[in-house]
Amino acid sequence: MGRRRRSRAQYLKGELIEREDFSEDLAAFKFRVDKQLPFIPGQYATIGFQVDEKIVQRPYSIVSSPHEPFMEVFVELVPEGATTPLFWELKLGDSVFIRDRLVGRFVLDTESGMTRHVMAGTVTGAAPYISIARTQKIEQEQGKASPHQILAIVGASLSWELGYYADELNELAAQEEWFTFVQTVSRPWEDPEWQGESGRAEDVIRKYGDHLGYDHTNAVVYACGHPQMIENAKAIWARARFPEERIKEEKFFVIKEE
Ligand SMILES: Cc1cc2nc3c(=O)[nH]c(=O)nc-3n(C[C@H](O)[C@H](O)[C@H](O)COP(=O)(O)OP(=O)(O)OC[C@H]3O[C@@H](n4cnc5c(N)ncnc54)[C@H](O)[C@@H]3O)c2cc1C
Repeated sequence: MGRRRRSRAQYLKGELIEREDFSEDLAAFKFRVDKQLPFIPGQYATIGFQVDEKIVQRPYSIVSSPHEPFMEVFVELVPEGATTPLFWELKLGDSVFIRDRLVGRFVLDTESGMTRHVMAGTVTGAAPYISIARTQKIEQEQGKASPHQILAIVGASLSWELGYYADELNELAAQEEWFTFVQTVSRPWEDPEWQGESGRAEDVIRKYGDHLGYDHTNAVVYACGHPQMIENAKAIWARARFPEERIKEEKFFVIKEE
């Protein structure tokens, strides 16, 4: 039997064509990639930067839809991090390395037979849900109906942290009966103009799920982003009798033990 060799990572070039900073440490980046790579909404790209002789790379959930001619990501700056400060140095026309395989299992569950989906996220954890919702909208415009109903609940400390994604998701919710969007703010005292929901995403998932009829008999639930939110949300959904196989998660990082 031949020994299987690990194939070497192959990269494409992603040229920055648009950047929007929502705050000092949150920004959206759009890249034009050499080649349109196939992916399923919810999957991630591995994006790298050349540092000396090496490529330093990290996974980033893709915000854009496979039907769009660019790759968009929503990134939070980790000031002491190896990669995100390099994102912050990018100017239009600069380029990054993008691995030529887009992968991940955090995608819309079309196998369980459930057609209702509760998607909870913390700030950049909204990325896979935006891709899923954009794709459903584009495919609907192409005449491809979908049975899937989505309740997206996204938490942030302050309302403006979601930047233009909040407008996009509110607009989609106003247009489409299959999409509901709840934005929740955990530091409303620092955001006196905010009139919407307050608390963390996990504080309100049960309230909206129960009220809108997304429950353990008919729904799949998803949690993405901050690991503590994911653990809290999973415990709440387990108590609400969601079976383990219908609770999906994508943790963006691991909390270091002090
Ligand atoms: C599947 C997947 C998808 C991801 N998608 C996104 C995305 O869409 N947008 C995005 O911004 N990030 C995303 N991440 C996180 C991303 O891959 C990097 O870990 C993050 O950007 C930090 O990279 P860094 O090299 O700057 O920091 P590193 O040098 O890797 O990390 C430094 C330290 O900071 C901690 N850390 C990492 N991220 C955070 C954070 N957000 N808040 C607090 N501490 C942190 C790490 O645990 C580590 O201890 C995703 C991660 C995974 C696994």
